[in-house]
Amino acid sequence: MSEENLMKEIVSLLKRRGFVYPSSEIYGGFGASYDYGPLGIEMANNIKNLWRTDVIRAHSQVVETDGAIILNPRTWEASGHLGSGFADSLVECQKCHHRFKEEEVEDRRCPDCGGTTTEPRSYNLMMKTFIGPLESTQNQAYLRPETCQSIFLDFRLVADSMRLKLPFGIAQIGKSFRNEINPKNFLYRQREFEQMEMEWFTVESETDKWFEYWKERRLKWYLDLGLNKENLRLFEVPKSEMAHYARRVVDVEYKFPFGWHEIEGIHNRGDFDLSNHSQHSGRELNYSDNDHPEAFYPHVIETSAGVGRLMLAFICDAYQKVSGGRGEQSQRSEEVVMQLSSRLAPIEVAVLPLMKKPELTNKAKEIFEQLKFSFRIQYDETGSIGRRYRRQDEIGTPLAVTIDYDSLEQNDVTVRDRISMKQTRIAIEKLPLVLRQFLNESQFNES
Ligand code: ATP
Repeated sequence: MSEENLMKEIVSLLKRRGFVYPSSEIYGGFGASYDYGPLGIEMANNIKNLWRTDVIRAHSQVVETDGAIILNPRTWEASGHLGSGFADSLVECQKCHHRFKEEEVEDRRCPDCGGTTTEPRSYNLMMKTFIGPLESTQNQAYLRPETCQSIFLDFRLVADSMRLKLPFGIAQIGKSFRNEINPKNFLYRQREFEQMEMEWFTVESETDKWFEYWKERRLKWYLDLGLNKENLRLFEVPKSEMAHYARRVVDVEYKFPFGWHEIEGIHNRGDFDLSNHSQHSGRELNYSDNDHPEAFYPHVIETSAGVGRLMLAFICDAYQKVSGGRGEQSQRSEEVVMQLSSRLAPIEVAVLPLMKKPELTNKAKEIFEQLKFSFRIQYDETGSIGRRYRRQDEIGTPLAVTIDYDSLEQNDVTVRDRISMKQTRIAIEKLPLVLRQFLNESQFNES
């Protein structure tokens, strides 16, 4: 199957199954924005919480903040985003008027229609807005293009109020906005997207050590969550392609159906941000303690990833087509199964009465009640049992609990495992314990 068709299939599955919808679809969509549906939000929350666990909770010296999206516009002068640092070079086809980044075009030939493109012009990627009723330049502000700047502005507030000692980290998850010229590839490049960033502050002499630490740690996180080793690599970004603030950049890249692309950046930002904000604001964002009596600007190692990009990578990696079907009363010649890690899957356990008969559905609802606060759970009684297994396979649910007539007499149920398709009879009273055990074992097999 062509890469384009594979992406079309994935996009269509995610829409049909309630993961991701085009935003404002009834008006024809808008500006490469997407809405998460009920299953998408579960999965996005899983990604964010797994990141929190690994980056924040696993490190006693990392704390989380949640800064404003619209900061004092002087922030963006100091950070370099208002200058040439955050501009793309834009060209436009003189025939079809499609616009591209300069780097996407060869010999001034439009990639869409072959027309001649204009000379490149510089274009700032920050989204503008106005604060208050007057739409004048003095009232102009910007939606943040990265989440980390409020971390730098609040550096002293966080360090002092939490009594943090170097080295330490400040993390943040939140929306960022970029007026991308040519957004494409679905969740990969959006204009409004969520980032998970962590700024690790340290002394300059230890930046190389910490860069290695965070790079390896982040790579391991992806592998532990089941991403295929062959589809992951690290890319040392050459100096000429680094962002204006960076001293060293390594990208974690994933092999999407549309090619190898960055999913996360590990950056050495030096003391660029703290020193520039100190200069521009007149407030010293420096650090001292007993071991460092002379105040200085700590250096920063940053990890920066996008929730949507990661979701797309995890889904592309897990998407499998089984020709001839998976059996179990299937009528289709080809079936889709999403082999997602149980920690990422929107639903952990599906509760399925064998048939829609009151004696079975009542029992199934009892089980739903018993499990609902311990697992991400879905109750489904519509359609044949084979079809319902297929639906759960498509959304990556690791376990299904089926209630049949024997359940009524023996007080037990069948637990079906998505990967092996093995079915095991389990006593209802032991169900919470056994389900947790099965989920843990499937995690163990992943890493
Ligand atoms: P690219 O070169 O792909 O535009 P970038 O190098 O500008 O990315 P960073 O500024 O390093 O990206 O952002 C860090 C992370 O934020 C990226 O690795 C990606 O996961 C996410 N991200 C950045 N821009 C977007 C976007 N337009 N849509 C979705 N996620 C994004």
